[in-house]
Amino acid sequence: MKALRKLNDKQFTLVTQPLRDVAANEVLIKVHYAGICGTDLHIIDNEYRHRTPVTLGHEYAGTVEQIGASVQDVEIGERVVSLTAVHTCGVCGYCQQQTPMLCEERQSIGSFVDGAFAEYIIVPEHAVYKIPEHLSLQEAALTEPLACAVRCLVERGAVRAGDDVLISGPGTLGMLAALVAHSQGANVTIVGTKMDEQRLKEASTFGAHHTFYTDDKEQYIEQFDVVVECAGNEYSANDCIAYCKKSGLYIQLGLFGKKIPFDADLLLTKEISYTNGFATTPRSWEIALQLLETKKVQVAPLITNIFSLDDWEEAFQTMRRREGYKTLFQLEL
Ligand SMILES: [Zn+2]
Ligand SMILES: [Zn+2]
Repeated sequence: MKALRKLNDKQFTLVTQPLRDVAANEVLIKVHYAGICGTDLHIIDNEYRHRTPVTLGHEYAGTVEQIGASVQDVEIGERVVSLTAVHTCGVCGYCQQQTPMLCEERQSIGSFVDGAFAEYIIVPEHAVYKIPEHLSLQEAALTEPLACAVRCLVERGAVRAGDDVLISGPGTLGMLAALVAHSQGANVTIVGTKMDEQRLKEASTFGAHHTFYTDDKEQYIEQFDVVVECAGNEYSANDCIAYCKKSGLYIQLGLFGKKIPFDADLLLTKEISYTNGFATTPRSWEIALQLLETKKVQVAPLITNIFSLDDWEEAFQTMRRREGYKTLFQLEL
């Protein structure tokens, strides 16, 4: 099968490789759509932990093609998505507390085990979630990044109805955060730079009531109960500390990929609470799928670029140029 693999620190390319056998507890999934994530770029650029050689891709939706001998709750032909942290020890405190992404022995698809930028992916049965009936496979491919936003804003941050929430960084992750905040009844504002003009014009599609440019930041200092940093850069992070009210909440959703200067004293003197989220829990997936099923969150407008795996170079260039929002590979017509 075709697979887009990171071979070593320098080589990332499309290869043809044999499909391995499915173990008793595993499920073979035919990938229909797989999304490119900022994390994939960090892996290609050697800024995020991974092992090589490995097939990248951790955001996907597909159909079950084959099941192992002991698989009980998944059937051939079912439409499914799966958890990212597919292998964990199962016995440590983190695993026991349903936070498998914190397990020391965690191995996630697309970084330590072969991921979804391929015609097929193999994952253990316990990681598999069924896609709600009325949700398309295309939309379902965004369950993983939505679950990341849910982890930060709902599970860790507990954004509430009536909260004035600021999203900094109107990329795909920022718009997902806006959608999640809106689904919780918050008043959502999005801030971006002049480069984000088009995105800010589309903000209402993603549940935002108001937008502003970083150039106008002075009038927005200390105006928000909750600030969500989604841009993953130091300017956005420090502006977010400024935008946050005293005793407000700062949520870190973006990944910086490096160490940054951060005004911890301002965080302290304003008594701002700080939280974040690292990937997802099984609960994040359940909430994300519920939000999609009930249409409290609609991700379709975020799907702007679709490529075949053969056109992977163009797909990644589109992503790096920040054109549109989510770039998906379509593997199955
Ligand atoms: Zn991702
Ligand atoms: Zn563990």
